Amino acid sequence: MEVRPGKVLLDEKEIAARLDGLAEEIREFYGGMPIVIVGVLDGCLIFLADLVRRFEMPLELALVKVRTYIDEAAPQKPPDVPMGELGGVAGRHVLVVDDIYDTGATLAALKSEITAAGAGSVRLCALLEKKREHEQEVHLDFCGFRIPDVFVVGYGLDYAGRWRNLPHVAVLEGYDETPPVV
Ligand code: 5GP
Ligand code: MG
Repeated sequence: MEVRPGKVLLDEKEIAARLDGLAEEIREFYGGMPIVIVGVLDGCLIFLADLVRRFEMPLELALVKVRTYIDEAAPQKPPDVPMGELGGVAGRHVLVVDDIYDTGATLAALKSEITAAGAGSVRLCALLEKKREHEQEVHLDFCGFRIPDVFVVGYGLDYAGRWRNLPHVAVLEGYDETPPVV
């Protein structure tokens, strides 16, 4: 079976409506306090762009590339967090924005590295959380949607570099979910 996006899980309108709510939650939580938003590339790209344009509060953007999955969607552990790319987070209030909370390895690594770098606070935000047992449990302070444990693409999420540009989130069809042997 050919690997391609199948069933639409979240359409453009649903995503936009939820982002309004999520932005409101974040705005209320920080109450105008200046924050540093750390976006986790590449998956956060579209979510981050849509989210930050809903804020008027003072913020700075920093981006990190944390690769956890190789092209065949196989986990590569542990995730490497290039803290050098982040600049100063010491004493700052940091909001990490990622595409998806899956195993939890990425968000757990980011939280511990940014905390160790002396951030004033570290909160986690993900567009999606998979309903599964996470290998590393983290507390998601802000979550867009909880979805079934399926592989999804679109709205920034890729498979082998493709389908990030889809305006919706779709289930990847024809994808063998057998976990890779590591
Ligand atoms: P973690 O397993 O560390 O929680 O997630 C690591 C990364 O794996 C995510 O940021 C995301 O880039 C990728 N990932 C996890 N689940 C999916 C999925 O269903 N689809 C896609 N495209 N990427 C995923
Ligand atoms: Mg990612």
